[in-house]
Parts: sequence; C-alpha cells; structure tokens
Amino acid sequence: AIGESGEQLPANQILAIRILNSKEYHEAKEKIMLPLDELLFSIKERTQKSIKQRDDNLENAFNALFALLFFGALAFIVVIFAINKKILSPISNLMKTILSFKQGEDDAIKAKYYNDEIGLMFKHFFEMKTKQDENHAIINKLGQTDPLTNTLNRRAFFDISERLIRLLNRSEGNLSLMILDIDFFKKINDEHGHLIGDEILKHFVKNVKKIIRESDVLARYGGEEFIIMLPQTDKNGALKLAEKIRRSISDHAYEYKKETIKITASVGVSEYVKDEKIELLIQRADEALFMAKKEGRNGVKAK
Ligand code: GH3
Ligand code: MG
Ligand code: MG
Repeated sequence: AIGESGEQLPANQILAIRILNSKEYHEAKEKIMLPLDELLFSIKERTQKSIKQRDDNLENAFNALFALLFFGALAFIVVIFAINKKILSPISNLMKTILSFKQGEDDAIKAKYYNDEIGLMFKHFFEMKTKQDENHAIINKLGQTDPLTNTLNRRAFFDISERLIRLLNRSEGNLSLMILDIDFFKKINDEHGHLIGDEILKHFVKNVKKIIRESDVLARYGGEEFIIMLPQTDKNGALKLAEKIRRSISDHAYEYKKETIKITASVGVSEYVKDEKIELLIQRADEALFMAKKEGRNGVKAK
C-alpha cells in the first residue's frame, strides 16, 4: 500500500482478506465480470460461427471440385470413346482394307460400311477401286487381244500355251497344235480391197470359233495366219478337226456388195512330245503347213 506522501506502507493483509471475502466485493466483481463474460461468450460464439461458416464453405468448395473432376473425367471418357468409335476405329478399318487391297486380297470388299463422312470415304474408295479393276481388266484384255479379229494375240497365246504345257508335263494326256494360213490372201486383197480382206479375216475367225472347243486356244499368229492349241487331243483328233475346219472354210461363201468371195485355207498339224519346247511343236506344224501349201493348198498335213 502507498501512503499519502508516496511512502510505502506495510500491507494490511487482514483487511485485504476481509475485503476479498466480503459480499460487497463479490457483488461489485460480479457486476463488472458479468458483461465481460457476456462479451467473451458472444465473441466465442461469433468465432465458432465464423469457423463453421468457413468449414462449410471449404466443404462446399471441395464438393464442387470433386463433382467437377468426376464429371470432367466422365466427359473425357465419353469423348474418347466417341472419337474411337466414330473416327479412330473406322479410319483404322479403312487403312486395313486399303492395305489388304494393296496385298491383292479382293475379299476386303466386304469391309464394314459407316453411315458418315468416313463411310463416304469408304464408298468413294471402293468405287475408285472398282473402276481401277475394270480399267485393269480392259487394259489386260487389250494387251492380250488382236483388235481386228478379237482373238488372242501372239503374246497371250504363248503365255497360255506355256502354262498348258507345264501342266501337261506334270500329268498324262495329249496336246496338239495346228497352224492355219489363208490361201492366196494377197490376191483377195488385190482384187477386193484391204477393207474386204479385213472383213474376211473376221468371218474366218467366226467360222473357226464355231467349230473348235471352248478349251481350245485360238490366236492370230500373223497377218492371215492363225494358230490353235488343242488340249487333250492327239494327232488323229487334230487332223480330223483340221479337215473339218478346212472344209467349212472352202464351203463358205462371203457376200460383199453383191460380190461373192470364196477362200480356202491350208493347215499344218503337230502333236506335242513330252518335255519338248513349244518352239519345236510350232516348227513341226509350220513344216506341215509348208507341205500342204506345196501340195496345192486347201489341204491338211501333219508332221
Ligand atoms: P499363200 O497361199 O502362200 O499363203 O499366199 P498368201 O497371198 O496368202 O501369202 P502371203 O504371205 O504372200 O500374203 C499374205 C497377205 O495377207 C499379205 C497381206 O497383204 C495380207 N494381210 C496380212 N494381214 C492382213 C490384214 O490384217 N488385213 C488384210 N486385209 N490383209 C492382210
Ligand atoms: Mg496365206
Ligand atoms: Mg501367210
């Protein structure tokens, strides 16, 4: 305790204890403390409210973030699935189809059809491929065909005959050949003109085709010279067929602009000897043809 003039007084402990235990003191203290308690309580309540509000906000934000991530991931999966189904898988299919065409597998034409832009691409691709195949077939045919008589040309004849001979060498059977040459064809051209000569060549082929078999290989060998390979036919059979053709040609009359033209042909026949070269077979038929010409034409000879 402090005196009036500021000196230190000895503490009156008994008085202090008495005051501290007095009712007045407690009532006064209560008067002071009650608003303070209320204040503290209200501060605490406000603080708790504010913390809860913040926790709620945080939870809401977290939920929103989670929902966003979940739906985002879902949308991503759906988009990837759709891209794969609608774009990647059809393109990969188209590529596989193009690749199998490139490797010559024609059944790739059965590839899946899509009802969209990629389907259109497929469609155009198939149309292009079909057109290309058709053009290819036309070019192939042109390369194998004699344009005037529409028979096989020399090159196609050798391709097919060599294949037939290879087949025959591995199995049993006969094979014969005949070469037909129109007699005095130069004279026909001179008397009636080249155009009529051409027409006669076409008719000649039509007549021969009517007589031979589907499996016989007829080709234009030279100007007015034709060659026929006869599978599964021996020399006798070939001679009979050659005679039938010769007679049919000589019996036939061609009518052009009131003109009646008759022609004859000479035929040389040969039979294949196992393992010989096709050139030898042709050479013997040629020699037989020469003999037929030498003996007066309009005849058949075999060698
Ligand atoms: P040969 O009896 O000895 O066979 O007498 P040829 O007159 O038939 O024989 P040659 O080989 O001397 O003449 C063949 C003729 O065939 C010559 C040519 O004018 C004619 N010729 C060849 N190719 C064609 C063609 O495409 N059209 C026409 N119109 N004539 C052709
Ligand atoms: Mg001739
Ligand atoms: Mg000739």
